[in-house]
Order: sequence, then C-alpha cells, then structure tokens
Amino acid sequence: MNISVIGSGYVGLVTGACFADVGNTVLCLDVDERKIALLNSGGIPIHEPGLDTLVARNAAAGRLLFSTSYDDAVAHADVIFLAVGTPPDEDGSADLQYILAAARSIGQRITRPVIVVDKSTVPVGTGDKVRDAIAGELAKRGAEVQFDVVSNPEFLKEGAALEDFTRPDRIIVGSDNPAALKQMRLLYAPFSRQHEKFIEMDVRSAELTKYAANAMLATRISFMNELANLAELLGADIESVRLGMGKDPRIGPQFLYAGMGYGGSCFPKDVKALIRTGADHDQPLRILQATEDVNERQKNVLFDKLVRHYGSAGALHGKTIALWGLAFKPNTDDMREAPSLVLIRALFAAGCKVRAYDPVASAEAERLLLAEHGQARCADLLFLAASAKEAAAGADALVLVTEWKEFRSPDFRYLAEQLRDKAVFDGRNIYDLEAVSAAGLSYEGIGRINHA
Ligand code: NAD
Repeated sequence: MNISVIGSGYVGLVTGACFADVGNTVLCLDVDERKIALLNSGGIPIHEPGLDTLVARNAAAGRLLFSTSYDDAVAHADVIFLAVGTPPDEDGSADLQYILAAARSIGQRITRPVIVVDKSTVPVGTGDKVRDAIAGELAKRGAEVQFDVVSNPEFLKEGAALEDFTRPDRIIVGSDNPAALKQMRLLYAPFSRQHEKFIEMDVRSAELTKYAANAMLATRISFMNELANLAELLGADIESVRLGMGKDPRIGPQFLYAGMGYGGSCFPKDVKALIRTGADHDQPLRILQATEDVNERQKNVLFDKLVRHYGSAGALHGKTIALWGLAFKPNTDDMREAPSLVLIRALFAAGCKVRAYDPVASAEAERLLLAEHGQARCADLLFLAASAKEAAAGADALVLVTEWKEFRSPDFRYLAEQLRDKAVFDGRNIYDLEAVSAAGLSYEGIGRINHA
C-alpha cells in the first residue's frame, strides 16, 4: 500500500519505518524542516534502538521517503496516519491544534478516496472533529471525496518501539466502516500473523482504550510509590512486597516498581487529559486525580531524602551531587517531563552543583536546562560528564535517576573513594543494599529499609 505518515517523531517515524519494512511505500511528512532535512541526509532525529538501521535500509530501497510537502504526502497515499503531538493544554486537556491542522491540510488536498488513521493519543470525540475538519475543507472547495476516519491508538514504548510495533500485544482499530476495517486488517497482517492481535471496535471506544491503558499503568506506579513511602515508615521493604504481590497472576509483576514517579511524553499528559475529560462530563475521576497528586509528590522524594540526610536544605548549599541518568527512562533520549528535571531544579535552588551523566540524553537535557536556567547559571552549577565515573568523581553524593544498564553493577569501592560524603541515593531500587554498605557507602532507596 501507499502510506503517508503525518508527523515524524517517535511514533510517526517508527510507524513509517515498520510499515516500509514489510513492503509498503511510505512517505513520512513533518512540518519541521530541519527534521526532514536530517532524515533526507541519512540522520535520525531521535534515539531509538535499531531505528537508524531500519530507516537506512528502507530509505535505500526507495520504500521510505521524507518530505515537508503536504501536496506530495496526500497525492501519495491510500492511507494517511496522523502521528502528530497532542501535548497538554493549560487546563490539562489534550491540545488538538496539530491534529486538526493536519486534518485541514489533508481536506484541502484529497482528490481520491483515502483512509485517515488517527494514531496520536486523542480524547474521545476527536475522530468526529477530524472528520468535520476534513469535510469542512472539502465543502470550501465544493469537492466531494469519500474518506474514512479511523482510530488506531499506538501502544509502543520508547526504547523498545520497534519490538512493540512489530510484535504488538494488540492492534486496536476503531471504525464503523467494514471496508476500512478490512483494509486496516490487511495493512497490519504482517504484524498479526502468529496470534490474532487485531481488535475491532467503534472509534470512541478505541480512543478511550488508549487513555484507559495508560491511566491504569500510571495508577499502578503511583500505588506502589505511595506504598513504598509507607513501607519506609513501617520498616518494611517494598522490593520484597513487590515480589510477593507480583507472583499473584491476577496482579502480575509488571509496573510494580517504586521510584521517582512517572514522567515521559505520555503518562503525565494522558492522565491529565482523562481527568479533564471526566471533569467536562461531571464525572470526576478521583482515583486518577490521586494518581497524579501522588506522582507530583514522588518527583520530590529524592530531594527530600537528601535534605533529611544532610539535616536541612541549608546544609545542602555548596554540595556537589552526581546524577546518573537524565532521560525519563532507559534507552531513550526523551526528556519530556523527566523527574531528573524536577530534582535538578530543586538542587539548583538549594545551591548545589550537579555533575550529570546520561548515555544519550545529555544533549537534550542541556538544551532544556539552558532554556530554563540560562547560560550563566548552568555554566556555574551544571557539569555534563562524558561517563558515569567522571560524573561521580569529586562529588559529595550520588543519585541514581535512570536505570540504564551500564549503571547496574558499578564499582562501589571506586564510588566510596570518590564520593566525599560516601552517600548513594537509589531512585530506582536497583542496588543491593549489602553490596553498597559493604563498600562503606550509606544507601537510601525508595521504600527500602534504611541502611544510612
Ligand atoms: P513527537 O513530538 O515526537 O512528534 C510529533 C511530530 O509531529 C513532530 O516532529 C512535529 O514537528 C510534527 N508535527 C506537528 N504538527 C504537525 C503538522 N501539522 N503536520 C505535520 N507534522 C506536524 O510526538 P510523539 O512522541 O511521536 O507522539 C505523537 C503522538 O503519539 C502523541 O499523541 C502521543 O501521545 C502518542 N504516543 C506517543 C508514544 C511515545 O512513546 N512517544 C507512544 C504512544 C502514543
């Protein structure tokens, strides 16, 4: 099939490359000219394992094209995916300006039947708005062209996006048109061969499914974080509790990890948007509101531990804190809503210097921190190291923020030599309490028995 993907970010680029890899001809469009120029010159604008090879292979085969031209994208396609961003608006609702702009751009140009597939995460009812936007543009030019609007929310995880896209747990497609559903089933058949993954439903249910899934995952995280904070007070270990709970098949082991709170480009905004939808329908979502409140508090948990460790916020003044990891999770350079930013903000405000290292997210973190704190303040307070060891060298304490693989088995004796105050704060509970203590370091995790 000939496919166009509107929006060439994390979701659009992965979608385009994966569909091209099974033989479709895909045009990826973006309004960001620099992104398209980079892609056309063989570069990749994001860090996603395996994506560079996949894009290069399919671009070389002529199956994957990049353009900023809506004329080309619309002329090319039988199926057009919308994969533009849906960031939170000021009131928490999803900002639909990019989706609707893309829909209008399509409506201004279509001359033959097309299926418009919404892959972005959008509130229930957006399918109708997209349909109206396209129909409105057709009416303006007095054109009559048959088109469908289908909902096909995306469930990929950054860092494992190719695996998730090509071996999905499920493929959700919402439409009331059997012909459109049939075409979508054909399109996804290469990724649904071993087991039937394709689940058909109406557009509104498909739209809600995506929010429901993310809201549930976020709720599990906040539930465990709240329980971890209680475990600490009770002298219990949340890691033992997690293992015990996760063995129950009704609960399962995933998403039971206590930490610094969820971040990233999806959970925070999707939780906010669903809360907003509930409020708009006079149906407050109280559990989800608590999920968000707990998460906001949890982002400060490590800073609070540092304050307690040193006795007061004032005692932190002049300290140098090493941070391992900046991205909101491993295997991505995505810094959107990363808990590391909240911690750095608090450390700067307390008069601390930060020595940070992340395997891939340092450049993006630097860009955001410079924009937020200015060149002079960053030059004074922030050092971005080229390695984990360099970040730790000469710091007073170490905070593990993102559980990248390379941080999992550090040389604790080296850390004990380097860290002036011999203190390790583990924001992801990845270290063995005894191993850290045996090296002469104090250790604090989240919800663990305190070995400080
Ligand atoms: P992104 O910010 O990485 O990419 C969006 C792209 O759309 C940008 O490159 C932007 O320049 C482009 N764009 C904006 N307006 C445009 C327009 N009018 N025409 C063409 N291009 C335009 O976003 P993302 O992370 O890929 O997310 C896209 C959507 O997918 C969001 O709704 C998100 O919630 C959802 N989603 C994201 C993930 C994820 O892990 N990132 C997973 C599942 C679903």
